[in-house]
Amino acid sequence: MTEYDDTPGDSTRSVHAGRPPAEAYEPSLPGPVFAAHYHLPGEASGPYTYGRDENPTWTLLEQALSSLESPDAPAETLVFSSGMAAVSSVLLSQVGAGDTVVLPSDCYQATRSLQKRLESYGVTVRLAPTPGDAQLEVLDGAKLLWIETPSNPGLEVCDIRRLADAAHAAGALVAVDNTLATPLGQRPLELGADLSVASGTKALSGHGDLQLGYVTTRSPELAAAVRLWRKTVGAIPGPMESWLAHRSLATLALRVDKQAVNALALAAALRERPEVTGLRHPGLPEDPSHEVASAQMIRFGSVVSFTLPDREYAERFLGALLLTAEATSFGSVTSTAERRARWGGDAVPEGFIRFSVGVEDAADIVRDVTHALDVAGK
Ligand SMILES: *Cc1c(COP(=O)(O)O)cnc(C)c1O
Repeated sequence: MTEYDDTPGDSTRSVHAGRPPAEAYEPSLPGPVFAAHYHLPGEASGPYTYGRDENPTWTLLEQALSSLESPDAPAETLVFSSGMAAVSSVLLSQVGAGDTVVLPSDCYQATRSLQKRLESYGVTVRLAPTPGDAQLEVLDGAKLLWIETPSNPGLEVCDIRRLADAAHAAGALVAVDNTLATPLGQRPLELGADLSVASGTKALSGHGDLQLGYVTTRSPELAAAVRLWRKTVGAIPGPMESWLAHRSLATLALRVDKQAVNALALAAALRERPEVTGLRHPGLPEDPSHEVASAQMIRFGSVVSFTLPDREYAERFLGALLLTAEATSFGSVTSTAERRARWGGDAVPEGFIRFSVGVEDAADIVRDVTHALDVAGK
């Protein structure tokens, strides 16, 4: 494809990402390599020595993710056993005693729960909310700014370019959690971030059958630090999970495009319901995040959030869904929903629903939700 001048489209890139050049009698995506160690004749070294350091199945997936997160500039990706393994590899490899890190006060709660651990190591943690780019106010003297946009579960959006420029001027590194958007929804490195970090468990792999995480950066120094962290902490993904995730990338564009259509169809139906308040989806023209989201995002993700009158109402709604499964997580091919407040830890109302549209037909998702709302309201 390098012979053409034009950059191929998103579907083409996601189908071909990380696949080796066609070779006679070889599969288009080599199967998972199960190896704890590799033959090292005569004290040979690299590229593959020991299973905790490197694996050829990771390598292909890492090349794929680099090409999706950073199509126009060289980048390195490190894959991890989960999104949290990737998140903590950045936070814990980059900051130490005496440093200050800025976290979003409304980000994914497991990321926020690293606050106490960081503080126990002598790190100062400052929190500020995502909307209104409020993290700008607390950047002074920070070593690292952590951004999550759109945020989970509130779907708040901040201006990555604006925050990254201010953070760099203040001497801070910038990491963006790109889980919700996926690299086909948003490319943080092109917007000025130093690191794009994500859970591959959600929309990226998209089938709700594996856990994975990754870190992508254009900086060889940052990549080396994260690589050393992975090797010393050992939060490595299995070859089977890595291969499944890579296989799933071929349908990433199909899935996120379908989810975009379904999310807007669901939001349009919810907008008509008097019992629904606080409807949020960054792709909705009237959403408070829409202006910033449309300037930096290519697709808006699978999550639609809204609030029902109270906890019991929400539980009746979830119990009446027939097609949609009650589950935490999001981004899967199957529609899922949960009452977020059941977990505690997020500043959301008792009736707050985080709904993730799958790739079913929009009419069926809308019918399922409308029917369950009717049942809940009786
Ligand atoms: C789920 C999630 C994570 C953590 O990913 P795991 O694969 O569950 O460890 C991190 N950030 C965000 C925004 C998430 O939604």
